[in-house]
Amino acid sequence: MFNNCENDGYPLIEQIGNAKGYWKSKVIEFESIPILCCEKCQNIYLKQNIAIIVQEITRAIYDLNEYDVTTVNISSSYKSIIENKREIYNLLVEKKIYPIIDNNKLIIIAKDIKSFENKGDLGLLAAARNHNGENFTEDVLKEIEEMKNYEDQ
Ligand SMILES: [Zn+2]
Repeated sequence: MFNNCENDGYPLIEQIGNAKGYWKSKVIEFESIPILCCEKCQNIYLKQNIAIIVQEITRAIYDLNEYDVTTVNISSSYKSIIENKREIYNLLVEKKIYPIIDNNKLIIIAKDIKSFENKGDLGLLAAARNHNGENFTEDVLKEIEEMKNYEDQ
């Protein structure tokens, strides 16, 4: 969809990086997602699927108005979220999944999205979890740990 930068016509390079999501007054930094970056001016572009989920998550955070977050990490879950991109807003706003809140960062792990897919029935797993960041089950902790390792690279 994008091949060249709109500014200067230089090629766009696919990479993992940060991009901002906007909804009304809300600006959220999304960490470690696939972006297209101009090799000359560093302008960042998003493919359509990523752009949609970035906007839908930002919109959900704005509408929920109860998470004091400035950063979102979907680095382990964006593929699953894309498959459910029409649902992600409702999943968040209707609290069918509980994202992890770590300081000002909201983290959505793949397991939550997959558990929603598999069960169809909502949030049972999430409800069993203290979403203040304690009492994570071992597999959830493992996924968070893997994500952090990935960020460190
Ligand atoms: Zn450019």
